Amino acid sequence: MKPHKQIKDWGLGLTTPLIIAGPCSAESPEQIEKICLEMKAENAVPQLFRAGIWKPRTRPGSFEGIGEEGLKWMEIVRHHLNIPITVEVGNAAHAELALKHGVDVVWIGARTTVNPFAVQEIAEALRGSDVPVMVKNPMNPDLDLWIGALERMYAVGLDKLAAIHRGFSDAYDKRFRNKPNWSMPIHLKRVWTGMEVINDPSHIVGKRDGILDISQRAMNFGLDGLMIETHHDPDNAWSDAKQQVTPKALREILNSIDFKEPLENMKPDERLEDLRRAVDHLDDQLLDVLQERFAVIDQIGEHKRQHHLTVFQSGRWKEVMESRTQKGVKKNLSEKFMKELLYSIHEESVKRQEKQLREADAVKKA
Ligand code: PEP
Ligand code: MN
Repeated sequence: MKPHKQIKDWGLGLTTPLIIAGPCSAESPEQIEKICLEMKAENAVPQLFRAGIWKPRTRPGSFEGIGEEGLKWMEIVRHHLNIPITVEVGNAAHAELALKHGVDVVWIGARTTVNPFAVQEIAEALRGSDVPVMVKNPMNPDLDLWIGALERMYAVGLDKLAAIHRGFSDAYDKRFRNKPNWSMPIHLKRVWTGMEVINDPSHIVGKRDGILDISQRAMNFGLDGLMIETHHDPDNAWSDAKQQVTPKALREILNSIDFKEPLENMKPDERLEDLRRAVDHLDDQLLDVLQERFAVIDQIGEHKRQHHLTVFQSGRWKEVMESRTQKGVKKNLSEKFMKELLYSIHEESVKRQEKQLREADAVKKA
């Protein structure tokens, strides 16, 4: 796959960290104008203006978006702020209208990313347009579904791409509206080199309090920007009233964030180089120990085979798991990490030993 175009190469004069702000929904020309004027007055003009024109609501009966008419109001944003505009598209008709009205960037919402038919339909409608596309994570923590939607865009020639981390629906954990799962955006960055991920703290937190905290965490992790829902009168907003902030609050949030320097852009200093060399060395040792451990595992496997014993023994596994976890916790390793590590090592051990059995069987049969 040839590389996609990163935010700075979208031809819109955008840089990272990319700050996107604007209302959850476009409501009226007056609302758009008020937000723009307040953004200007409060020195809180984002790089990219967002507005929901079609709103995918969980249940019918709430405000479902103003529709095409709202696209005309984007001229107000251009007039007052002279910045590019992004809207959500949820089907081919939305995509066609967004293009017709010269929307600069489109995004695909979490409820759409889960549906490959809809994503494909949008990709076909945007084909040939060169419009940048941002893809929000699906509602459920399924990395492949997220990557799949980005791939569907790329496959029709849309190579100006970014992702948005807006958290994941969780039936039990109600601390968040959508629980952040930081390993997902980080893993996405690992598997798709250069993929930039914008964080959407508004939909993660679901209320004003806590947006700063999540924004800071996103920047600590090295994500590439923030999308923050901003409204001149949040309490009376037609959608997501609890989580929208005023332009003044947006400025305060942005001023409070300690934006980190992306390591990618700079040459690491000597101290960092030294520490990284130490880690390289330790990783080599770790691999040697693992190699040795699996060699012993193979010997145990051979012994089990000769004595017609099963590979898996639950009592032993329980004992290994508990004793190692306890030891790990004493060494300041988290219980979750210890369990994941032990599961992974144990699974590999069991698979190796079962493979030994199959191979010996095959030899016998031959
Ligand atoms: C939105 O950005 O207003 C929105 C509907 O977001 P999500 O798709 O993340 O729910
Ligand atoms: Mn919203």
